[in-house]
Amino acid sequence: MTSYADRRSAAGAALPDDVDALLVSLVVNVRYLTGFTGSNAALLVRPDGSATFATDGRYLTQAAEEVPDLECVDARSSAAALVGRAAADGAHRLGIERSAVTLAEAEQFRAAADGRLDLVETESVVERLRAVKDEAEIEHLQRACAITDAAFAAVLGRLRPGVTEREIAWFLHGCMRENGADGLAFDTIVAFGSHSAIPHHRPTDRALEAGDLVKLDFGARSGGYHADMTRTVVVGPAADWQRELHASVQAIQAECRAAAVAGASPRELDGLARSGIEAAGSHAAHGLGHGVGLEVHELPFLSASSHDTPLVDRTAVTIEPGIYLPGRGGVRIEDSIVIDGAAPRSLTASDRSLLEC
Ligand code: ZN
Ligand code: ZN
Repeated sequence: MTSYADRRSAAGAALPDDVDALLVSLVVNVRYLTGFTGSNAALLVRPDGSATFATDGRYLTQAAEEVPDLECVDARSSAAALVGRAAADGAHRLGIERSAVTLAEAEQFRAAADGRLDLVETESVVERLRAVKDEAEIEHLQRACAITDAAFAAVLGRLRPGVTEREIAWFLHGCMRENGADGLAFDTIVAFGSHSAIPHHRPTDRALEAGDLVKLDFGARSGGYHADMTRTVVVGPAADWQRELHASVQAIQAECRAAAVAGASPRELDGLARSGIEAAGSHAAHGLGHGVGLEVHELPFLSASSHDTPLVDRTAVTIEPGIYLPGRGGVRIEDSIVIDGAAPRSLTASDRSLLEC
């Protein structure tokens, strides 16, 4: 198992050559590098992997428990305090995370630097490390996915005419909580009938009717890790068009899952889904998938515009093609999987066939 110190060494080794240290201010990255689970913290990481941690008075007890191995600076503006520390240490060029820093924070950092060092924008230094999971992380993901599968099995018995999208969303939430989830991975999507054609529909008071497609996209969070799964079922016997639509998506999803092997190109995988969807007479409304871990959407992205770094073992991604027929209905099938040589492992295991509830 990888220790937090190992992760910090890897982050130090991954720093761009033109910086003396990196200020990690995205709290999920701080969590990844230290194990700290509070909401305000920052970390200064040096090329040799040594680091200084900062948080404020609300979290000092928690920090002493979760991050016993690092010096802790007590400051409400934790990131700005570490800019001052880096300058005092003699750093000349300090990396900052460009996607994490607001204009107001950048101003605060410049004030803390007081002309003693330059701030250099860096891109996804820690996020790239996070894409590849260790065994403990895969166990957390597997547990979150098992809770999600159990909620899907339970909800099938609730899909009766008259129930509303909101009621089904609440039922899923309760199931996941009762089965040990820390919380929801993201806002649950429950879409009945024509709503299923809206890729990211929000649950409403619409009542279920016989013959409706039901698209459920949801996931549990466990140990900080996020599950993400979509299944589409039908209430009562499926119509021919629903059966055909579902069969197309199921075939595309199976083909893409099988192709998600070590060495595969994220862009080509997305292209495989895209051409399958076009062959079925539609067009892709979104990318094929995304990395999943401490965030529900993280690197790598499987899309037409993604960085085309080949996938490596122990990368966790979703595979989620969908076809949407506006005004009629849509089908998406999504699994969270882990790249594992030539045979990717699906962490979500619910039945992918068209269930008639
Ligand atoms: Zn999803
Ligand atoms: Zn997803």
